[in-house]
This record gives sequence, C-alpha cells and structure tokens, in this order.
Amino acid sequence: MTEKKRITTIDVTPRDSDAVEISLYAAREKIHPKSINGRFERIRQLTVWSTMGLYLAMPWVQWDGRQAVWFDLPGRQFHIFSLSFWPQDFVFLSWLLILAAFALFFVTVLAGRVYCGYVCPQTTWTRFFTSIEDWIEGDRSARFKLDAAPWTASKIIKRTSKHSAWLFLALITGITFVGYFTPITELVYRLSQGFLGSWEIGGWEAFWIGFFTLATYMNAGWMREQVCMYMCPYARFQSVMFDDDTLIVSYDERRGEPRTRGAKSRDESNAGDCIDCGLCVQVCPTGIDIRDGLQYECITCAACIDACDLVMDKVGKPHGLIRYTTQHALEGLKTRILRPRLIAYGAVLTAMTVMFAAALWLRVPAELDVIRDRTNLYRIASDGSIENSYRLEVMNKTQRSQTFRLTFEGPDGLVWSGPEEIYVSAGGHATVGVTLGFDPFYHTVATGPVWFYLEDIDEQGIRRQRESRFISGSP
Ligand code: SF4
Ligand code: SF4
Repeated sequence: MTEKKRITTIDVTPRDSDAVEISLYAAREKIHPKSINGRFERIRQLTVWSTMGLYLAMPWVQWDGRQAVWFDLPGRQFHIFSLSFWPQDFVFLSWLLILAAFALFFVTVLAGRVYCGYVCPQTTWTRFFTSIEDWIEGDRSARFKLDAAPWTASKIIKRTSKHSAWLFLALITGITFVGYFTPITELVYRLSQGFLGSWEIGGWEAFWIGFFTLATYMNAGWMREQVCMYMCPYARFQSVMFDDDTLIVSYDERRGEPRTRGAKSRDESNAGDCIDCGLCVQVCPTGIDIRDGLQYECITCAACIDACDLVMDKVGKPHGLIRYTTQHALEGLKTRILRPRLIAYGAVLTAMTVMFAAALWLRVPAELDVIRDRTNLYRIASDGSIENSYRLEVMNKTQRSQTFRLTFEGPDGLVWSGPEEIYVSAGGHATVGVTLGFDPFYHTVATGPVWFYLEDIDEQGIRRQRESRFISGSP
C-alpha cells in the first residue's frame, strides 16, 4: 500500500539567495510641511479662512426670527434661509447631492483636485492645526528637533499647549456642528450653564459634540495626509476622470533635468534648471516629490509651485519649473479645454441646475393629505343620509402663519360638514375631520372620486389638491 504523504505546511522559504523580503506594511513617516509664501499660498489662505469662517459663522446667522441654517431633526424640517424642507421634500436633498456630485466631476475633469487643495474640510482643518503647531513649536526644523528631543519641561509645556489648542479648536468645531441641528444660541447657553454646574445638555448632543471633537482632533491633528491617502474615496476614483487636458501640478522634466545640486554644478552647460534643493518636497503636505510625476497623493495645493518659484527667483530663472499645466502642454501639444467629457458633464450640470432651480421656484409651500376613515367605508346617519369621513392634514411650510380655505369637488348632492377654514402656524401642521354626505331620498350618488382643495385665503397662489373616494354602498 502506498503511503500518502500529508501536506500540513507549505514551505515558502526563498530558494534564491538574492531574494529580498518585502514588508507590505510601511510605518508612517512623520511629515512636517515647511511654511511657504507665494501667490498660491495667498489664495489658499483666502479659501481656507473663508471655509472655516463660513462653517463657524453660519449657525449664528438669524433669519425671520430663527436660525438661518437649521436642520431640525426632531421637528423633521430643514430650514435654509427662507426655505423650509419637510420629509416630503426629500427629493430636493437627493437632487442637491446628485448636483454636487456632478459639479465635482465637472471641476475634476477641468481642473483636477483643486477642491482638495483649497476648500476640502480636511485640508482646511489640517491647515489650521499645522498653523497652531508652527506657532507653538516653531518652524519645520524646530519641530523635527522637538520630536527627537528628550522629554524636558519645555517640550512638555509646548506639547501640552499644542494639544490643548488643538482640542479647543476641535471642541468649537464639534459644538458648531451640533449647532446646525439644535439652535446654537440655546446650545451655547446650556453649555455655559454646564460649566457653572447645572448640566442641561442632552445625551445625543453630548455624544455628537464629543464625537466630532475627537474626529476633528484625530483627523486634523494626528492623521492629516493619511485621511487623503487612505480614507478619502475621491483620491482613488479621481484618476479615472483625469485626461491629458486636465489641469495638474507638474514638474517640467524637460526643463529641470538633469538636476544638479549646488552653484558649481550650475556652470555646467547641460545642467537643467532644478538645483535639487528639495524645497518642493519640504513644503508638500503629503510628503511626496512631484518630480517623480503625478501621484494620487497630490492634492493640487500648489505649495510646491510657490516653493520652486521662490528658488527660481534666487537662481535667476523664470518661474514655472513646477506649474499648473496639462499633460498635453508638457508634451508640447495644444491643450483642449472643450472636450466631449467636459461638455457632457457641463451640459448635465447646467440642465440639472436649471431644473432644480425651477422645481424650487414652483414648489408649493403647503401640503394636504387626505386620509379616509378606514374603519367604516360609509355610514348611514339617523336621518338616512350616507356619510363618509375623512381626516385632512394640512402642513404649512412657509415662515408665517396661514389660514387656508378647504373646499371639495364631487358629484352633485354631496354636502360638506366640518370646518371650511383651518389656521396653521408657521412651519406647523394641523388636522381637521370632515364628513361628506348625501340624502339618498333626493339624490343618487354612486361610488366615485372626490377632490379636496386647499387654498390660502391671502391668495398668494398656494394651492393643493388631493383625490380621494366617496363610497356610497352602491356601485
Ligand atoms: S524646488 Fe524646484 S529647484 Fe528645488 S528641488 Fe524642487 S523642482 Fe528642483
Ligand atoms: S506635490 Fe505639490 S501640489 Fe501636490 S500635494 Fe505636494 S505640494 Fe501640493
């Protein structure tokens, strides 16, 4: 009998003595980007301050006596200035998200990742966190030195100050975020009462403030470029939207190579313009070397352009060794701005924006729901008339109280019993019960449709109609 050999392990020891073991895990190298001045830095300052300012200020803006932007989840209404959206308007939110996605596609095809470099919240908050770090711990080289230094009193004070400042900014971010969902003036007042010893913050509010404080502190303070490189899906799929005419930040290899370091080498006639100073790498928030070509880590912030322009000024060469350009331009070809993909995205975006604006414009700021009494399809009253009962629910989506007129249309002989007007407070809803009936002695009314109408008595053109059925018991 042949003995079967049982394989329990697979020997994968490299046979080749030259084989090299490659680890799939690489420890993160800490990045301390160097601060730089320049024309794109000025634009970045403007955009990140605007993004942060808008985020922090918006919940404090009042409109018609309430918070201008308020996502009132318990009240199931979203208020954006004079518009109030109810759950029935969910389609507008979906539409808005689709519009935002198409706008992002359009901008990406045209100008690459400018969103990442200039207005993305991750970029914005990281910029503020690194500015705090720069201010407390010093410039790039001071920060590297501090990292390597032993834990002295000075290092402990600097680190404690930095993390306290980070946590403070993160806490403001968390409170502001919750302030979009609960009136921020009340929230801040209740928080201040908490500091005075009387805790009035709800469990969910406390949870979300804590969650966003921690998320901001971790994302902008600790993880920084790793969020862009490993967590953000946009970094992964943007490459499929790029083409050779998309604006990118690129190093001009034909002009820069062969790079030579130092002034002596510059005398060589075949030297390229790059002096290999490494400044473009030192200022990069994601720590890449743009001279290696376009990489998915590049957030198109243009810090390397500012850095290289500064170096070119010093060595007396023209700007633009690193610049915003396109692949076609680098190859000496003409850049085509209008191309089929961009035109298609632009056309869809324009059409959807127009349709969205029209739908918003034509949106009726009231709702009427008609609910038939399902327990009794019809009822025979003591005088012999046949009656159907309905519950009418009226929603007033405007920012002021309204009185609505209720009417109906149906077969001759039907008589309305119930209120003919209904008062609904601003952003509120009200319910009223009505009965339609007829006297079979005088009329013959078959089962059939009836229409209920809602109109504002101020005649501002608010009108709603809903169909229901009258059931008479005969076909
Ligand atoms: S900053 Fe400019 S000159 Fe310096 S290494 Fe980068 S590309 Fe070369
Ligand atoms: S390579 Fe240049 S543009 Fe890209 S992220 Fe780094 S500094 Fe910003």
